[in-house]
Amino acid sequence: MLIDTHTHLQLVNYNKDREAVIQRALDAGVQGIVNISFDLPSSRASINIVEKYPFMKSSVGVHPHEAKGFDQNTIRELHSLASSKEVIAIGEIGLDFYRELSPRENQIEIFQQQLELAKELDLPVIIHTRNAYFELLKIVREQRIERGVLHCFSGNSENVKRGIALGFYFGIGGMVTFKNTPLTSLLKEIPLDRLLLETDCPFLTPRPHKGRNEPAHLRSICQRIAEILKISYEDVANQTSKNARSLFHLKV
Ligand SMILES: [Zn+2]
Repeated sequence: MLIDTHTHLQLVNYNKDREAVIQRALDAGVQGIVNISFDLPSSRASINIVEKYPFMKSSVGVHPHEAKGFDQNTIRELHSLASSKEVIAIGEIGLDFYRELSPRENQIEIFQQQLELAKELDLPVIIHTRNAYFELLKIVREQRIERGVLHCFSGNSENVKRGIALGFYFGIGGMVTFKNTPLTSLLKEIPLDRLLLETDCPFLTPRPHKGRNEPAHLRSICQRIAEILKISYEDVANQTSKNARSLFHLKV
C-alpha cells in the first residue's frame, strides 16, 4: 500500500470528477491520503471532503503566498478548525523567498504564529519552502519543533543534514521522475525511514504521465525512488507508509 502525504483535492481542478479521482487512487493501492490546505477557505473545503472518506485526513494552515491579510482572527479560526478530528497537521506553512508574493517580515511572523499553534495542539507541521531553507530551519530549531515534513524537498546536502538533525521527514514527489534532477543523488543521503511520498497534485505530475496530477500517479514516484535506491517497490511503499503513519498518527 501507498500513502499520499500531500494532495490538494479541494481545488477546483477536481470539481467535475473528485470521486472518480479518489476511487482511482484506491484502485492504484493508495490507501491513505493527507489532503493539504493553504488558506482558510481551502482548510474548510478540505475538512468537508475528507469527512466523507475514512482513509483521508486533512491539514489546516496558511501558505506563505497567502500571508497578506493574516491576523489574529485567522489564527483563532485555524485553532477552531484544527479541533476537528479530521485534522492531523498544520500546513502547508513556511517561507517562500523565491516568488516572494508576500513581504518576508509578514511571512516570518505568520510562520512563527502557526508553529506556535502546532506546538499548542501537538500536531506535526507540513513545511513549504523555496530559497529560504537556512532561515526556515533556524526558526524551526529555535521554536523546538520536532515533528514535521519538508514537503517537495529539493534542497542540498547541507539541508538534508540539518533536516535529519531536527528529526524531520522529507517529502518526495514528481520531481524525482524528472531528467537531471539533483534528487537522484540527494535521495541516497536521506535515510529510508525519513522519506514520505507525495504527489502535490494537481501540480508536479510525475513522468511518464501528462496533464493534471492525481494520487494514483504516486505509483510512478514510488517506482522511480525504488530504481534510484536499488531496492524493491514494496520496500519503498512499506517503509514510506510506515513513516507517514508514524508522523501523522494515521490509523490507515
Ligand atoms: Zn502543496
